[in-house]
Amino acid sequence: MLPVDLHAHSTISDGMLPPGEVVARAAGRGCRLFALTDHDDIRGLADAAAEAARQGMAFLPGVEVSVSWRRHTIHIVGLGIDPANPVLLAGLAGVRAGRDERAVRMAAELAKVGIPDMLEGARKFADNPEMIGRAHFARHLIERGIARDMKAVFKRFLAKGKPGYVAHEWASLADAVGWIKAAGGVAVIAHPGRYDFGRPTLNELIEEFKAAGGEAIEVVSGSHHPSDTERFARLAEVHGLMASVGTDYHATGEGAREPGVLADLPAGPLPVWTRWPHLQAIVASAAAHMDPASFPQTEPDQAC
Ligand code: AMP
Ligand code: MN
Ligand code: MN
Ligand code: MN
Repeated sequence: MLPVDLHAHSTISDGMLPPGEVVARAAGRGCRLFALTDHDDIRGLADAAAEAARQGMAFLPGVEVSVSWRRHTIHIVGLGIDPANPVLLAGLAGVRAGRDERAVRMAAELAKVGIPDMLEGARKFADNPEMIGRAHFARHLIERGIARDMKAVFKRFLAKGKPGYVAHEWASLADAVGWIKAAGGVAVIAHPGRYDFGRPTLNELIEEFKAAGGEAIEVVSGSHHPSDTERFARLAEVHGLMASVGTDYHATGEGAREPGVLADLPAGPLPVWTRWPHLQAIVASAAAHMDPASFPQTEPDQAC
């Protein structure tokens, strides 16, 4: 087991715990190095960093940028970013700008299939009004008894091609990677196992990502099946990308994931934290002292 988690969400985007509480939860599970990576917003990073310092846990400021690439939505994580960088801040503000209008359209589409009044209910779940998204709609649909759980609600209503799905233009790949680099961060392809395209297209994405300055890919992810790990480790190695690890934690009780600890990285690709030598030392000494029995494995589930 690895006491590292470089992908997790708070109430600043579509997680259910405030930033400090996510950090405390990860630390309580034995985490030694953590990154908060809310979608398209960095407002949680100050509280998260303060709590990590209180817990004596190493912290990397992060973000998960929504990107439109060809006809697909993909996610690019930025790690070790400067949250005050004006280029990054302006870029993220632009990505957030379309979300409210998209929510209005989602509610209108759901009304057409006999589910009225979704907007107010979804908004209640969105602590950060600029960051309303599909997970908030999902939670309100579940609250109204229209679907049983997150998996079912996305499958029936919110995935591409379903009645509540509204196409949206996010950041370009080159812009997202550029903002992350401008802010001094490392760009990471999030959960490559979750995309609706196969290996040849994934290879093309990786080549474009590298050309834009991207450097890493998630190899161990709470959004993957454990059997995917080996294959993404090889992919990282073949393309010369560093390997990252993250639970993609959103909420306790939605799926089985908890933040803070993950399965070990396979040998081969360079772990992304080797980029920060002082962090590498922390991870190496913490991993050597972990008791695997105290961190039961959780099952993978659907969120991304
Ligand atoms: P949005 O950025 O508003 O399109 O919302 C994307 C978010 O919806 C992801 O980050 C996940 O939190 C959630 N999500 C997407 N697909 C699924 C799924 N199949 N099951 C559960 N949650 C999902
Ligand atoms: Mn999410
Ligand atoms: Mn995520
Ligand atoms: Mn994601």
